Amino acid sequence: MTRDLTRSFGAATAVDGVDIEVRPGEIYGFLGANGAGKTTTMRMLLGLTAPTRGRATVLGRPAGDPKALARTGVLIEEPALYPYLSGRDNLRAMGRYTAVSAERVEQVLETVGLTDAAERRVATYSLGMRQRLGVGMALLKDPELLVLDEPTNGLDPAGVVHMRNMISSFAAEGRTVLLSSHALGEVDQICDRVGVLADGRLVAQGSVAEIRGEGALLVHASPTPAAADLLGARFGRDNVHLDPGGIAVRVDPALAATVNRVLVEAGLEVSALAWRERTLTDSFFELTAATTGSSR
Ligand code: ATP
Repeated sequence: MTRDLTRSFGAATAVDGVDIEVRPGEIYGFLGANGAGKTTTMRMLLGLTAPTRGRATVLGRPAGDPKALARTGVLIEEPALYPYLSGRDNLRAMGRYTAVSAERVEQVLETVGLTDAAERRVATYSLGMRQRLGVGMALLKDPELLVLDEPTNGLDPAGVVHMRNMISSFAAEGRTVLLSSHALGEVDQICDRVGVLADGRLVAQGSVAEIRGEGALLVHASPTPAAADLLGARFGRDNVHLDPGGIAVRVDPALAATVNRVLVEAGLEVSALAWRERTLTDSFFELTAATTGSSR
């Protein structure tokens, strides 16, 4: 949880008055364009960067508190790995600092799908394998909270699916996951709630369904202006918009037949009628549009 969390670097404000709330047991997706302030916020949550203003609490303790950090697993930016050690020895080396058992190392290798490659030197790992080993590092201490900065960055489609399934399984085990991502499709599928950052400010926070918003019926009818007018009069002007894909009518999908009848009875020609779900990507661009093209 953060209150008015702010960080400036010189004259630039990277994070500006951010209030986020991550609830226990949920997967929270932190969204934002490059430079929006996601990493800086995560670093402040972990006590790696000091806020200029405001505060953050993590697992009920002030950000950076060692007792909270002991219950938190972190993957921020590139995982720090020893390239000349094997995957297993990297985990063992990390485990030595945190008094993790050999058995736990094996469990983690299994969880991240690296048991078969455990003896290979990390220098020979693919990006996806290194990323999974990084997640394994974060998991070693059996943390309650996982903070993962862009865990799917640079992964191929199979790697993305693997990572997504792993993250879902962490939540199923009762862990809380805070992840940042540009991959909106991924976030759409695995997150319970999201926060959208634009230019350092939190512009939206809510469940994925809330942020995504409702879909619309896309209608192709001619003449289009007459059809749009008629639908506006019938279903409310605010619910009808001209869209590059047709006339978008925000109504219950069950009303498709009614929409069709209204138009046909008025002598208008209907050539297509289809339901279009909104995606998180639609909302993301709307929410961040006002700030794109700014100083960053
Ligand atoms: P990305 O998706 O590219 O990782 P992000 O949302 O994580 O972006 P941040 O890395 O938090 O964004 O950066 C936010 C802003 O703060 C950027 O303009 C960045 O240049 C700036 N910034 C971050 N760290 C520093 C620093 N140590 N010194 C100066 N500026 C910084």
